[in-house]
Amino acid sequence: MEWGNFEISVVSDGAFWLDGGAMYGVVPRTLWSLATPPDAQNRIEVALNCLLVRTPAGNVLLDTGLGDKYDNKFAERFHVDRSRRLVEELGRLGLTPLDIDMVINTHLHFDHAGGNTRRDDQGKVIPVFPKARYVIQRGEWANANAPNARSRASYHPEDWLSLETNGQVHWVSGDQEVLAGVSVFLTPGHLRDHQSVRISSCQGDLVFLSDIIPTAHHLKLPWIMSYDLYPLETLETKQALIRRAVAEHWLLVFYHDPRVPMAYLTEQDGLLQVDPYVSS
Ligand SMILES: [Zn+2]
Repeated sequence: MEWGNFEISVVSDGAFWLDGGAMYGVVPRTLWSLATPPDAQNRIEVALNCLLVRTPAGNVLLDTGLGDKYDNKFAERFHVDRSRRLVEELGRLGLTPLDIDMVINTHLHFDHAGGNTRRDDQGKVIPVFPKARYVIQRGEWANANAPNARSRASYHPEDWLSLETNGQVHWVSGDQEVLAGVSVFLTPGHLRDHQSVRISSCQGDLVFLSDIIPTAHHLKLPWIMSYDLYPLETLETKQALIRRAVAEHWLLVFYHDPRVPMAYLTEQDGLLQVDPYVSS
């Protein structure tokens, strides 16, 4: 899809399944199970909609999915679906990993940074994108490297340690433009230093929300994941984002939504309306 002088493509890294209760926090099962029917283990499908942004200044990838470093136990627990893979999807668009100039990790949880690295034939963990700078918030880097008992399960250090060894990490602090038309901005709540990404062109702003609003269902204000470390901050951040998305006609990307990867928001008589984006 054309977006001003950028070209945008959703590049999926497959899907996995997470506990429905954890995905929707305080929302009762009787409500969320109507929106997203769970499997026999109470899990719901969770997409991995990474985004490729081709710009005149280089190719940028937003988040990298789960990757391939997990074992059988992990694959079973999360019912990992590898029918689509990030690197193959890039191949279909005529790109190899060497063509990626920048990776932006919204944060370092394994379902967003897993595809940063892979094992080579000797089993050594190496970066998947050898020429890319990996843009990571300094605060998130610090927290991921010193997790607590609650946050530890979401982090796999092998997803980022070899990036530092190879000198490929580009640490940032707060809001900034990282490439012409591509900016990161803090969206706290899921984590203290979670960042979203804005792609600005003459056509307007496209915003990659990531885990601050992971699916279109999470536009409903109380629908906040149990994984969030600061749920009341998520609430505030969401309200501000939704207001701006309506006022400034943002095209939103929902990283974890299997049915609505992109949508516009409008307001009619005080009610929020989701208009899924259909590419022509
Ligand atoms: Zn996530």
